[in-house]
Amino acid sequence: IGQPFIQAVPVLQLIEDAGFEAYFVGGSVRDHILGREISDVDIATSALPEELKRIFPKTNDVGIEHGTILVHYKGEHYEITTFRSEENYTDFRRPDKVSFIRSLNDDLQRRDFTMNAMAMDKEGNIIDPFAGKEAINKKEIVTVGNPDERFGEDALRMLRAVRFQSQLSFSIGKQTLVSLAANCHLLENIAVERKTVEFEKLLMGPGLSEAVQLLANSGMIQYLPGLKGHRDEVIRFSTHLRGNFQLAESWVLLVFELGLKDKEIEEFLREWKLPVQKIKRIKHIHALLLHRLKNEWNPELVYNAGLEVAISAEIVFASLQDIDTSTEKIRELHEVLPIKHRKELNVTGNDVMDWLDKQPGPWLREYLEEIERSVIYGIVPNEKEKIKEWLNASNLRSEKN
Ligand code: ATP
Ligand code: MG
Repeated sequence: IGQPFIQAVPVLQLIEDAGFEAYFVGGSVRDHILGREISDVDIATSALPEELKRIFPKTNDVGIEHGTILVHYKGEHYEITTFRSEENYTDFRRPDKVSFIRSLNDDLQRRDFTMNAMAMDKEGNIIDPFAGKEAINKKEIVTVGNPDERFGEDALRMLRAVRFQSQLSFSIGKQTLVSLAANCHLLENIAVERKTVEFEKLLMGPGLSEAVQLLANSGMIQYLPGLKGHRDEVIRFSTHLRGNFQLAESWVLLVFELGLKDKEIEEFLREWKLPVQKIKRIKHIHALLLHRLKNEWNPELVYNAGLEVAISAEIVFASLQDIDTSTEKIRELHEVLPIKHRKELNVTGNDVMDWLDKQPGPWLREYLEEIERSVIYGIVPNEKEKIKEWLNASNLRSEKN
């Protein structure tokens, strides 16, 4: 078994020494069987949070009302959750009440998909009451028990199914798929933030195109922010998506295919509750993409965009044109730029005001921009004296005086 498990074995041992059961559970066990890299391990136990606190001196109550505490042990921390069952889902999302239980099996039964409902003990034995291993072998996502019931309990599971499809390149089991299409209206009850998390994970998975198509064809997009009624656009989006896209690039492609304009882009991305910085970046790349659809790259464009944003715009551009991405030209243009940022310009507004003996005003900005442009294009070297001479000699002064 992998390193993260080995490191955590003493934690299981300590819980067992105190007379309780403890297992690895959830995504880490699934990924272990899949041979995927494991980041952090989740642990489930028959011990109650209070009982765990007696075993481990250093803990945090991260989600104690759901039975989860964070245990610090030898410089690492572990999320440990008491076995629980969930009952009475009256609002299609979280259960009204969780009950702590002493049975591993019942804990596994409340989990979403069979591949996520396995446990592993400290010797590496797999406990698999719902044939999760078999589902993994068949690359199938199947709910534990009746999908209508399970999606009715928590509608987010439908989006989780599609994001796992993308992340693992699995397919969704037949019955689960039918149920998903029938129940997608229940997504109305789910908070946008939770949808966004799943959607972005979906966009980062290798199977993103198929997963986006499923969102469109199942009707799930009707219940995603700003996508209602845009099946055709979303399908077009899916066909241009590429596996190596960064998240921002996928968002740019999406707003492009939706045909959104400046203010609409902002509104759309706000509906998804994306952070302001991210929205800014997406809008920036989108603006460059529009440029690129009409023009070739030039030094000024690359300078204003910055290397990373320019490359992102080119990547989306290439996918729209169905051509291979080539960022060579952008890199070359950027490489030979005499300055990469305004702050590298060896002239300040004060210099220019001094030289011309003028008060500040709108003219100054125009002058500085003209100087900047001339430096970018190599018309004048980025040296204070040379720029002064050039400014005196050029007709810029006479024109604008
Ligand atoms: P990832 O690799 O993305 O973390 P994961 O399977 O670990 O995938 P988590 O959201 O971390 O997913 O959840 C951990 C485990 O908790 C899942 O494997 C599953 O057993 C259970 N689980 C999570 N969300 C739900 C849910 N909405 N309904 C039922 N069980 C869930
Ligand atoms: Mg996890």
